Amino acid sequence: MRGWSELAERVGGTTRTSQKTALLARYLTQLSSEELRPAAVFLSGRPFPESDQRAIGLGWAAISATVTQLADTTAGALGEAYDRSSDLGKAVADVLAHRPEEPDPSDSPGIVEVAEVYAAIEAASGTAAKGALFGALLRRCDCLTAKYVVKVLTGELRIGLREGLLEAAVAEAFEESQAAVQLAGMITGDVGETAVLAKEGRLDEARLRLTHPIKFMLASPAEGAAEIMTRLGPTVWVEDKYDGIRAQLHRRGGEARLYSRDLHDISDQFPEIVEAARGLPWDGILDGEILAYADGHVLPFLTLQARLGRKEPTARVQAEVPVAYVAFDVLAVGPRSGSGAATPVEVLLQVPLTERRRRLEALELPTIAEGGRFALSHLVSAESAEALDRIFGEARARRNEGLMVKDPQSGYSPGRRGLGWLKMKRALATLDCLVVGVEVGHGKRHGVLSDYTFAVRDEVKGRNVTIGKAYTGLTDAEIGEMTRWFEGHTIRQLGRFRLVEPTVVVEIAFDLIQRSTRHQSGFALRFPRIVRLRPDKTAEEIDTLQTVERLHRELQVGAEYLVTAEARKPASR
Ligand code: AMP
Repeated sequence: MRGWSELAERVGGTTRTSQKTALLARYLTQLSSEELRPAAVFLSGRPFPESDQRAIGLGWAAISATVTQLADTTAGALGEAYDRSSDLGKAVADVLAHRPEEPDPSDSPGIVEVAEVYAAIEAASGTAAKGALFGALLRRCDCLTAKYVVKVLTGELRIGLREGLLEAAVAEAFEESQAAVQLAGMITGDVGETAVLAKEGRLDEARLRLTHPIKFMLASPAEGAAEIMTRLGPTVWVEDKYDGIRAQLHRRGGEARLYSRDLHDISDQFPEIVEAARGLPWDGILDGEILAYADGHVLPFLTLQARLGRKEPTARVQAEVPVAYVAFDVLAVGPRSGSGAATPVEVLLQVPLTERRRRLEALELPTIAEGGRFALSHLVSAESAEALDRIFGEARARRNEGLMVKDPQSGYSPGRRGLGWLKMKRALATLDCLVVGVEVGHGKRHGVLSDYTFAVRDEVKGRNVTIGKAYTGLTDAEIGEMTRWFEGHTIRQLGRFRLVEPTVVVEIAFDLIQRSTRHQSGFALRFPRIVRLRPDKTAEEIDTLQTVERLHRELQVGAEYLVTAEARKPASR
């Protein structure tokens, strides 16, 4: 792990892309297949491959306790070090630099061993057991290695290494084309597996594994109809932007599973959809949205919220909030496998959307009208900005949040905010923000951490900047649950205020954006309110200061109209 950490330090120290790729490629070629697997996964900034649903489950408090104990220092030492760098790995290294005794270099853990310890920490139950394993590992690491062990463990590598660059390095190291590495990466969802296949000249053996979720294709925000037509035209496909829960449906033999946008198995929250899918006569993967649905109408997200996070809902709950699966894409399909070996499915990721839609329609999913649980997304095509604007108006009249506009020739790009899909949202958007601080509330909220300070990402400066504070929007149950989470993930307590680990994403609605010196961003939101928690989004996916600046410009122009016509309308989610 020391060698890997030195490499990571060097990659982080150079800004030139070509130099980063060369450094990585040279390093990767030296490794055995066994070492290559975790080395590549760690370079993606994660302890486990992306398609792997495990999470280490070691919070700030446990890390802090272990580190301060090893360094034989005071409880606040890690918080103070963190304040200096805002980088937990670096803060751990700084604190460990004052250890009474340096570890023996001959006992330094190898990369395969570190991977094994991560797995053991994940599998251990309880903070004490996890902390003990983590402590035993950290005790053997010199400061540089400890820094990177923590960075990988917490998923905050921050060495300026994008996925594309890692793929380019794997391609260069093993003399493969980047396109071949990229495709294998999409199929396996595991850069470690992909690197080993590349090393062994077996990229064409990459197999899509049913019941292993693959990353979702994402949409980029778009401004106006004219811009969308220029980017995706001459003909675009337009679908309603459904306001439900994005889910990938996997089918194999008699088995069916649902995965959320963050690749978690959510099958037991929607047993009726899983049950309906079990009987379907094919194997494969669909992409779509789970919606609350009754009497031929999609119900608002608020209704669906009652089902969120609820495992094994009772028959009564299922009847009160009936759900359906609206499919809009098919990623793989093949004949249904029997009880024996699985039949390989045909991967459709690189096939144009026109063909994928044809294949999806050919599946003849049992619709709600037929007593099934499925529907297909409503699809129309547009050939001019005027037509697109008209369709947008109609969608809005149906109280729909907006539209998804897709290039009919585009392939499915897992995990990418590609340009094949654009989302056309209402002008007065919501912002996805990161909670960076919390405070106890007032009145009946005294005793719970209900006041959130939130931030957006300044992409130019590469840091999070605060933009506001909000109190309302979450239910008491959500506030209670989040209070416990924030208590375990407090970085520093400053009186009533707690600086917290920046990982919780909330969606914020507001009436206006104004310039203000009150927050680091230089902006403040008027009447900010929390629309919902976004556990499906990571800190990397929050909105940027650059988006705020654009919205500020746009909203100024039509502020009068927007405030009266739009903002008073209750939030649609
Ligand atoms: P956002 O959550 O604002 O980033 O918007 C993108 C999301 O819109 C996707 O992740 C989907 O959950 C959702 N969505 C709704 N309708 C569609 C559709 N017809 N096609 C693709 N994504 C959709």
